[in-house]
Parts: sequence; structure tokens; C-alpha cells
Amino acid sequence: MNKILKAMMIASLFSACVSTNKETAGDDFEYNNERFADLQMLRYKVEGFDDLTLKQKTFIYYLSEAALWGRDILWDQNGKYNLRIRHILERIYTAEGIDHETDDWRAFETYIKRVWFSNGIHHHYGSEKFVPGFSQEWFDQAVATALTAAKCHTTAPDITDIKEVIFNPEVLPKLVNLAEGADLLLTSASNYYDGVTQAEAEAFYENLKKTGDQAHPVMWGMNSRLVKNADGTIVEKPWTTEGLYGAALKKVVENLRLARPFAEDEAQQKVIDLLISYYESGDLKTFDEYTIAWVDNTAPIVDFVNGFTESYGDPLGMKASWESIVNFKDVEATKRTEKLSDNAQWFEDHSPIAPEFRKEKVKGVTAKVVKAAILAGDLYPSTAIGINLPNSDWVRAEHGSKSVTIANLTDAYAKAAKGSGMLQEFTVGQEEIDLITKYGDYTDDLHTDIHECLGHGSGKLLPGVSTDSLRAYGSTIEEARADLFALYYLADPKLVELGLLPDMDAYKAGFISQMQNGLLTQLVRINLGNEIEEAHMRNRALIARWAYEHGRAENVVEMVKRDGKTYMKINDYEKLRTLFGELLAEVQRIKSTGDFRAAQQLVETYGVKIDPELHKEVLDRYAKLNIAPYKGFINPVYTAERDAEGNITDVKVTYTEGYAEQMLRYSREYSALPMVND
Ligand code: ZN
Repeated sequence: MNKILKAMMIASLFSACVSTNKETAGDDFEYNNERFADLQMLRYKVEGFDDLTLKQKTFIYYLSEAALWGRDILWDQNGKYNLRIRHILERIYTAEGIDHETDDWRAFETYIKRVWFSNGIHHHYGSEKFVPGFSQEWFDQAVATALTAAKCHTTAPDITDIKEVIFNPEVLPKLVNLAEGADLLLTSASNYYDGVTQAEAEAFYENLKKTGDQAHPVMWGMNSRLVKNADGTIVEKPWTTEGLYGAALKKVVENLRLARPFAEDEAQQKVIDLLISYYESGDLKTFDEYTIAWVDNTAPIVDFVNGFTESYGDPLGMKASWESIVNFKDVEATKRTEKLSDNAQWFEDHSPIAPEFRKEKVKGVTAKVVKAAILAGDLYPSTAIGINLPNSDWVRAEHGSKSVTIANLTDAYAKAAKGSGMLQEFTVGQEEIDLITKYGDYTDDLHTDIHECLGHGSGKLLPGVSTDSLRAYGSTIEEARADLFALYYLADPKLVELGLLPDMDAYKAGFISQMQNGLLTQLVRINLGNEIEEAHMRNRALIARWAYEHGRAENVVEMVKRDGKTYMKINDYEKLRTLFGELLAEVQRIKSTGDFRAAQQLVETYGVKIDPELHKEVLDRYAKLNIAPYKGFINPVYTAERDAEGNITDVKVTYTEGYAEQMLRYSREYSALPMVND
């Protein structure tokens, strides 16, 4: 469920480019940190932490410890050489006697920072193995110097195999191979299967799936490595406190136990008990009980995810990588989503769609807004801005799911993008820049809230119309429907009345952002010569181009050319709102009646093709801004103050630790696993 949100995160980088700062003066927090390769490090601020009770802070402190202790599990899951490689690289990085003024050193520094970022030697997004920019001779010399200097080995260890893995492009080239035709397990570097072919693994789990409760199937295979023994038998090696990764999981459990007394209610203590019991036994039924208890536990302010969760790293989509996030509810921001869901029926009744497509009775959807306190495992440093769990289909159907948007991370993206130059480069004039600077944050957040809480849930299908009748155009139409619902209502006085927007100028920032993104800036994510493929992007292009074309006679929106650069200018905001309303009515009609031909016509005409000349211009302008395409976060540091008996009397949060410093400290303080885990 994370994946969509990771994609959203990338989308948000670009909507963030027109977002700005809510608290202007006095906010000297440095969101941007160092940059290397294609990566930009950011910091996030845990606003509101100091206002929590001591009990809540203590709870967060121990849950953070439990989160950080899982780090090495992910490193080993991402490849069986990763922990050894990290050890050697860190020895070199911290050794004395290596000249830091050479090209080899600088290439090495970039390499280790990329490896830290990816929790292994493959790109976190593209999955390809990093190519070291330093020579093998330099590396040999550096290893010799580092090991002598550190005196950590009496005789030099044999690292021939590791050198093969680092330098030979033929060895383990992909973390996850999804190319059809090859044996996906044997050609993937991820460490979820050992000596097992794809056919053998598939057969193994086909058999398992036939057993047990068919209506409530457990998540087979999610917490084990599948291994072929010397005698040819195939067995699961479960990841439990007594099994594989046991040393790390014991530390996780130890800290969950320390956290338990500070849980916010008994139900949350039960959640922790079930999680510990599952870590100890590996029993997947217990895991389901744990997720149900977790989904039902909605009262607490502090909440967390800790465990084997997402399966994108397994080509077969079963084995789950370890991750953790600790968060607490942003009570103010959650009031915002509650105001919307409390008024859901009003919005539905006043929607500009034909009455027969309206819902008589709307069920409000509540989504919680949270602040992240710590990110770990597969959520660190690259992370999601929202999470929807659990992943078990039957648990979701019978017990629901928890959905969070992580406000301080979106905020950090937005603030970090402030100085990127995107806004200045692509916005037509100072008046527009001022509107976005003043209101961009409000309208961005509110747009997302209305889109999620109301937009997707609005309207209804006519009897007999199937949900998938729009086929390949279905998701673009659905996203357009939710976006148009948000855009139409952004300009409604109701939002000012509810106190969600400060005045009737605010919505203009949302309109500029939408039109600019749909017509211009989102093109930076597409390579020259390609068309628009992704549903959210098609939807944005569709809305912006349709409104531009249909307002042309009255010059509602104008494409302005200046010094060879193209800009978008809105001349009539009110008329643009009317156009959004008209398109919403049409998109809802298409959806409600399952009008495939109209969907196809609409999407193909406005949502897919790109003018190659404009595309090249936008890409050239973007390239000059030199913005890193991927971002990740440095965690804050929590320090517990204790009394003479060892009781925590306060927890302080600081933001001064550097990226390398943090990575080295984590390796020093949270390494429980051996270098090789068989
Ligand atoms: Zn959506």
C-alpha cells in the first residue's frame, strides 16, 4: 500500500514546487541538507513533540529505539553481502592515513553515501547496482590502510567475493528483477530466497495456500527466507527472535517491552503484546490478530508501525521488508479532515453534477494527519508521505484499515523546494507568485484532503453499471473526478465559512498550481519523446488542457510567451471555476453511466499527448535549475534524561546530527546482526 504513496511523494515534489511557508518569519530550520549523486538529503521537524506528555514522549523514545534496532535486518534482506560491504566501507571512511584530496576518495565518498541511502548496493528506486567511480587498485590500498589503522583484524580478511560484488557489473546487477522470461529469483539480488528457483518457490507456496482457513488466509511467506537444503528439501527459515535475524529482533522486542508501560491505553498494550508474541513465534495467525488489534486501536495520539510490512523487494511479492515509523496525531490538522467529513453530505448535495448521480447518503471517510517522529528500515531515508495498512485483503474488508498522511514530511518537501527556483522559473508574474507564497500551503493540503476524504467517495454508479466498465481509462477518470471535486469546492465560500480557508482569494493559489502543473511543470518527469502514461499525471493534463481549450473563446486561461519561455496565466478565476464544475459534471456522467467511448475520447484528446516543442523547452528550463530527483530524510535525535533510579524525566529532540554521522552512529549503536546471516 506504500507504493502508491511513494509515487505520490514524487508527485508532491512537483506540486510542492508551488508550495511555500506557513510560518514565514522566525523559521530558520534548515530543511535542505547535503546533496550527492541524484539525491538530496532533507530534515523534518517534529513540531508538537515538546507539547506531548512525559508518558507519550517516553513511549515514543522506546518505540524509536525499537525502530532503529531493526535497521540491519533490511540491509541483509536487500542482499547477503550488504552488511559485510557496509562494514568495509565504513572502515575506510573513518580510517586515518587515506588521502582525502583525490578523485578516488571523492568517488568513494559518493559511493558510500549512496549505499547508506539505499540500505545496500542497489539504487533504491531504479534497482540497478551502483557503479563505483574509484579504481580497484585504490580500493585494495584503502582496505589495507583501513584495516591496519583500525587494528580490527589481525590478519587481512579475504574479501575477494565482496570485490566481485562491488566491481563486476555482471554479478547481482539488479536488486529486484521483474523482466519477464528470466528466473526472477535467481536473477534478483534480494536475499529472500536461497538456492531456490522461481518454479520451486511458486510450487512451495501453491501447496501452502491450499492449507488453512481459506476465507481468512494468512500472509504466507511474508516473514521467512525460503531455502533449499543440501539434500534438496525446501524449507522456510522464519525471521523470529529464535530464528534468522533473531539477535536484532530480540533488541526490537526488548524495546517494545520497555515501551509497553507507557502505551496510551490497554488496547494499545494488547497490540504490543501480540506483536511481541508474533516476533517470538513467527506465527502468521498471531500476526493477523495483531493487525486487527492495531486497526481497531484508534484512540491513542501516538501510534506506530513496526515489522515486516511491504513486499516490493520480492519479485514474487510475498516476502516483506522490515520497516518502522513512530508517529503522533496532528490534532489541529485532523480537525481539518473531520470538518470535511462532518459536512460530507452538504458537499454531495451541492455538487454541480446531475442529481441522479448524487449519493443520497454519504459515509464520511476519516483520514488521520500525523507527524513522523522516527523513520526506520524500509522507510528510511527514502520514505512515504502517507501509509495505508494493513495489507491483508480480508483484514481490510472485515476490519478496515488505518490511513495516515504525514504532515511534517510533506511540509519538509514543500519548504525544501522553496529555494529550488521552480516557482520563479515557471510562474507568469509576481501577482501569481505572491498568491502562491501566501496561500499555497493551505490550498495544497486542503486539495489533498477534499480529494481523499470527499472526492473519491462522492457520486454513484447507475444500477447495472460495472465498476470496471471504463477499463484502462478508469483510474484517470476516477482521479479527475476527485481532483475536480476538490478544485470546484476550493473556490466555494463554504470553505471560508468552515474556517478552512482564510478568504476568497486563497483558492486562486490552488487554481494556479493545478493549471501550471497540468500544462507545464509535470512534464519535467517525462523523458522527451514519451507520452503521459501515469493516471494522476494524465488526469492533471486532462483537466488543465480541457479547461484551457474550453475557455479559449473568452480568454479564461492564456499561454503567455516571453523571451522564448512559455507561461500559464489565468485571466478569469470565476469562469475557470465554472469550467471545472462543467467538466466534473461530464466526468461524473461518464463514470455513473460507464460511458467507455466518452472516457476514451476525453483522456486521449487531453490527457496523453505532449507538444514536443513545449516539452523540450520545459525540460531545458528544469535542467538549468539542477534539482535532485530523489530525496530522503535525516532523522532527529532523541535523548532521554534520567533520574538516579534510571526513570526517564524528559526526552529532548535535536536536529544537528549530520548524514554520515547518523549512519555511522546507527552502525555503531544498533548493529546486532552478524555480518553473514544464514
Ligand atoms: Zn486519488
